[in-house]
Amino acid sequence: MAAKLSSLPLEQIRARYRRRLIVHLCLTAAWLAYAFWIPSCGRIAMPRLPFYLFGGLAVYGLVAYLNWRCPSCGGSFGSAFWRRECPHCGVEFAEPKDPQAAA
Ligand SMILES: [Zn+2]
Repeated sequence: MAAKLSSLPLEQIRARYRRRLIVHLCLTAAWLAYAFWIPSCGRIAMPRLPFYLFGGLAVYGLVAYLNWRCPSCGGSFGSAFWRRECPHCGVEFAEPKDPQAAA
């Protein structure tokens, strides 16, 4: 399946990538906090604990699957936490270190 490329300007693609990265990192931090808090809060008894953990994991996985995608082509970033460029369409998300050099 060919990737459908967005016609957005590169700056807008990078801004969307940064937003998605922030959401992804916050979501991961929330999932980790939940996964450590649920067993230690004392409100969930052991037989039901796995359901809460796998339920949280399912929600995390679904939101991450929907959010953690290339803003240009929509390709999934998989389990990677950081991308300098899209592995599907090759658009670069990292700003050039020296803007003068890129001009
Ligand atoms: Zn892409």
